Amino acid sequence: MDFIDLKSQYRRIQNSVNTRLQTVLEHGQYILGPEIIELEKQLADYIGSKHCITASSGTDTLLMALMALEIGRDDEVITSPFTFIATGEMIALAGAKAVFVDIDPRTYNIDPALIEAAITPRTKAIMPVSLYGQCADFDAINAIAKKHRLIVIEDGAQSFGAKYKGKRSCALSTIGSTSFFPSKPLGAYGDGGALFTDDDKLAKLMREIRVHGQDRRYHHPRLGINGRLDSMQAAVLLAKMEIFEDEVQARAQLGARYSSLLKDAFAIAPVSTQVVTPFSAEGNTSVYAQYTIEVPDRDQFEVRMKAKGVPTAVHYPVPLHQQPVFAGLGYKTGDFPISEKIASRVISLPMHPYLTEAQQKQVVAAVRESILE
Ligand SMILES: *Cc1c(COP(=O)(O)O)cnc(C)c1O
Repeated sequence: MDFIDLKSQYRRIQNSVNTRLQTVLEHGQYILGPEIIELEKQLADYIGSKHCITASSGTDTLLMALMALEIGRDDEVITSPFTFIATGEMIALAGAKAVFVDIDPRTYNIDPALIEAAITPRTKAIMPVSLYGQCADFDAINAIAKKHRLIVIEDGAQSFGAKYKGKRSCALSTIGSTSFFPSKPLGAYGDGGALFTDDDKLAKLMREIRVHGQDRRYHHPRLGINGRLDSMQAAVLLAKMEIFEDEVQARAQLGARYSSLLKDAFAIAPVSTQVVTPFSAEGNTSVYAQYTIEVPDRDQFEVRMKAKGVPTAVHYPVPLHQQPVFAGLGYKTGDFPISEKIASRVISLPMHPYLTEAQQKQVVAAVRESILE
């Protein structure tokens, strides 16, 4: 069994992928070719955003967004400590200070009720992460941002395709950022990412920053990076977009089935052995970038699952405030108790749109045995 099976998906879209890659090989515009323009239009339409700027990764997009907003030295950006390193890392790389705010124990996303206490005169932006495929509570976050005149940048690297109150992830705030890393809900065959905004000025700036801060050939009014997506990757993503909405539906159904199978499997088990299944906040759909549960004894669970031939992964074992690289921020263990507790309990099960019911039953049987036997 694969944790994420990209081969089944390739077999489904093989003709389209091969044809589109062949087209790139023939026209030879490997950088910012016609596929990029076509993809950006499609993605902007899909998200319901005015502009899409594709980019080299979902890490570079975060940096490009911060650079376009001129967030850097002496500025603070509020984010979640329970995320992939890139979120806090790019705030630091931009020269700003990451200020962490603990998470909601049910959704694992930043807890809006704790944000205001972290705002200082230096706060410039809030960067919520839509973890595991479910959006953070953007109505509450945007209301706080409006009151304090802050920008909101969504790290939607795991939530591309998810909906929050009828709108898509990445169209919920000033800037939305996503990743096309191969294992993400919409994955390329290499690195990639995209930025979304309705703001014309920010869109123009992010486009310039993507190409070394260049506004016309060899004329550079500002600093930028080499942040472009390749035409080859855009060709792959165009093929994947043909089936993406279908896969989003499949992910929702598979997630729901996992939860109901797990509920049945633990129906008569003692309370102390119960697993916690993903919580869907009202108005949210999840794309289950990860299907993540909480288990009582994770170390033992991991070993037992492995012995049964079921791959698992931990996203993420160490919250950012406990990472050595952020020691300089002065946080200590105990500062974000929910993040610390959740980081010690979560584990992700195999999840991709081509998982069969038989495979899910096998995974759930292994979960049950790993905990109860
Ligand atoms: C994957 C991920 C990123 C980084 O994306 P890359 O394309 O791998 O650079 C950033 N933030 C979160 C929450 C992620 O899951």
